[in-house]
Amino acid sequence: MSDGTSKSGGKLSLGKPGKLSLSKTVESGQVRQSFSHGRSKTVIVETKSRRSFERTDGGDMKAVKGGAARRPAQEGNKLVAENPLDGLSETERQARLRALEGAAKEEERRKIEAEEAERRAEEARRRKAEEEEARRKAEEEAARRAAEEAEQKTAEAASAPEAKEEPAQAETPAAAEEIPLPPSEKPDAARAKAKVEAPVDPAAADKDKKNKGTMRLRGEPRRRQGKLTITQALEDDDGESRGRSMAALRRAREREKQQNRERLSRGEKVVREVTIPEAITVGDLANRMAERAPDVIKALMKMGVMAAVNQAIDADTAELVVEEFGHRVKRVSEADVEDVLVKPEVPEGEGVPRAPVVTVMGHVDHGKTSLLDALRATDVAAGEAGGITQHIGAYQVTMTSGDTITFLDTPGHAAFTSMRQRGAQVTDIVVLVIAADDGIQPQTVEAINHAKAAEVPIIVAVNKIDKEGADPTRAKTQLLEHELVPEDMGGDVICIEVSALKRLNLDALEEAILLQAEILELKADPAAPARGAVVEAKLEKGRGSVATVLVQSGTLKVGDIFVAGQEWGRVRALLDDKGRPVEQAGPSVPVEVLGMQGTPQAGDEFVVLTDESKAREIADYRQRKAREAQFTIAGRGTLEQMFEKVKAGEAEQLPVVVKTDVQGSLEAITAALDKLATDEVKIRVLHGAVGGITESDVTLASSTGGVIVGFNVRANPQARDHARRDGVDIRYYSIIYDLIDDMKAVLSGMLAPEEREEFLGYAEIRDVFAITKVGKVAGCMITDGEVRRGAKVRLLRDDTVIYEGSLKQLKRFKDDVREVKQGYECGMAFENYDDIKVGDVVECFDVQSVKREL
Ligand code: GDP
Ligand code: MG
Repeated sequence: MSDGTSKSGGKLSLGKPGKLSLSKTVESGQVRQSFSHGRSKTVIVETKSRRSFERTDGGDMKAVKGGAARRPAQEGNKLVAENPLDGLSETERQARLRALEGAAKEEERRKIEAEEAERRAEEARRRKAEEEEARRKAEEEAARRAAEEAEQKTAEAASAPEAKEEPAQAETPAAAEEIPLPPSEKPDAARAKAKVEAPVDPAAADKDKKNKGTMRLRGEPRRRQGKLTITQALEDDDGESRGRSMAALRRAREREKQQNRERLSRGEKVVREVTIPEAITVGDLANRMAERAPDVIKALMKMGVMAAVNQAIDADTAELVVEEFGHRVKRVSEADVEDVLVKPEVPEGEGVPRAPVVTVMGHVDHGKTSLLDALRATDVAAGEAGGITQHIGAYQVTMTSGDTITFLDTPGHAAFTSMRQRGAQVTDIVVLVIAADDGIQPQTVEAINHAKAAEVPIIVAVNKIDKEGADPTRAKTQLLEHELVPEDMGGDVICIEVSALKRLNLDALEEAILLQAEILELKADPAAPARGAVVEAKLEKGRGSVATVLVQSGTLKVGDIFVAGQEWGRVRALLDDKGRPVEQAGPSVPVEVLGMQGTPQAGDEFVVLTDESKAREIADYRQRKAREAQFTIAGRGTLEQMFEKVKAGEAEQLPVVVKTDVQGSLEAITAALDKLATDEVKIRVLHGAVGGITESDVTLASSTGGVIVGFNVRANPQARDHARRDGVDIRYYSIIYDLIDDMKAVLSGMLAPEEREEFLGYAEIRDVFAITKVGKVAGCMITDGEVRRGAKVRLLRDDTVIYEGSLKQLKRFKDDVREVKQGYECGMAFENYDDIKVGDVVECFDVQSVKREL
């Protein structure tokens, strides 16, 4: 109740204790309370009083009014007044008085008892001493008598220990209890004795307790009497049981908390098994380890890897981090979703024989295409159909004998190897074409090496035997240099001399292929769900994504659900190698598949599944993985280290980010870079896109220790700064051949990249003036470096080169000048170029002739 309270009712006489009477313990009155918002309320106020007593000289208890025992009745605005005697009922008051009197009497009695006990204990001791004296005298008497009767020595020996033991016995409490005492006095005496002789005495304490119970006054709360011993405390459990003290409870609770905390802190250090996929984001890794992401980032920094929370790191780096945090690593190479794709084990010797799959390889112009054409012409079905042109990248030839051979029309070892790199071992036999008039050439050697690497048997077709100057024997002899020994020279390599042009000896070649196939025992189960490989795929107008698939096992049917690389689909239609729709395709049969959701890549595995959602899930997972892998941060390395590694034969790939002006050049460059791959090292295009070089490109290159290649594009200022800071090499090109040559040199580890041009400076076009006879002149500000007269310039718009040429004019105000430094304004005009705009950037450079060794 606050200040808004007003008193009413005369019954209340607060602050005037004199008027309070003992007859009332609780006084009540009514108070009207009014609130600020206008409402008022009547409340009942009760006043409770407390009474206190004092002992008079005569030992009687008397109620005390006021004085030290009484607290001030009204403190502040408290309406609860306290008065020692007020507010108690008559009976209650009497009871309390009695209790108090009892307590006082008891106190008195205890005092007397204590004195009495003291006195009696003294008396007992005295009496005991007398008794002992008597006994000792009696014993002495007996001893004397015994000595007289027996030998003195033995008597002495027997009586000595007894005499020693006697006093000790007398001092035990049991002896003390023998003293007759009035029951009421006994405990105190015993306690007094216990105090003297033994601090803890169960027997005495027990007795004491029992007697104390009788001494307690009715209604009086049990009180502790005298000094509390441990025994007393422990045994004090009759009636209401003694609970643990508040302090003990608090201590126990504190202990429990501490234990919990310890358990928790121990729990945080629990060694977890952390599952690491191919690529994992820093945040995800932190979650899986139950560590804080900033800690993980810090750990990565220590390892020299700069990665943000949502950036992916590769499994090797992640493994190091996990070990750093003391957890266990569990690497998973493929996600569980791909488990269904596991190839079923085909028992040895089971299945139906299938047609061999043949790839024709060889040097350019040795007649691969001609030979494939000639072989196709031997097909019985094709002959019947009247020469239907081949329509997909693979075809089957059925011979008069009924045997069939599947030819992959993807000549060249590059395609062969690129398919193999994706894990598709499609080819059973390689037909190596060597022109009899030309012999073994570089690409022939490469083809041999690729076939050997794939462990695929080689059949040599020595072509163009019809040609003048043809020397099949020379070609065969050259084979010896490459560890291929022809049969007629005592080896095991089948060599057939053919002419694709004149269609000579083609049946012999086919027979040789079938013979080799027989040795290989090629078999497949046509009843299984189809599996195969994508031979080629393309996006066609009106037909969507179409892929040529070579079925390797099982039978592919219309309506089948499949996964092909990162894509999935349902077979809408199947077309055979002659473009005719078919319902199904068995082992070794190439078919064109319609119904793809996207375009897969050559060499992708093609697997039929029963479940569409599963197919979709796998495709999603693979796409995600591919995206992650593109931005995966591997161990960082400088370009110098990369060269050193290439030289030492350690580096397997040179990561490159390619940025170009148009899509066409991007495709051309990526394709050309792919072709540069040697057996030891290849270029890995981390990212290829159209547009200027941005900071994210630099980050990507820097994280993988790669270089950035800009073809007719430039880095924006932020990217330039970033690259300079991180030591990322950005190289600009305007000619594809230069780019390829440089990359080749890097790959060979022979030639350090050399700058062909010297960068001079950047100028920003602030204004454009049209001047008659001169044309357009750019008002520029030099933002970086300097601009020199006669130097080469490039005009950049949105970081893309739109013009390259030389400066026609360089002026400051009206004068021609030799050079203009950073921070100054100047006027520029370009040779044969007028299309300039405000905001364009002029890049000025000097061309240096660099001696190149290749
Ligand atoms: P590819 O580059 O390996 O595919 O070779 P091609 O099949 O394109 O043939 C290259 C050239 O060699 C063509 O002009 C063919 O006509 C010619 N050629 C191919 N096979 C023979 C042959 O058996 N005899 C002769 N005389 N010329 C052939
Ligand atoms: Mg060809």
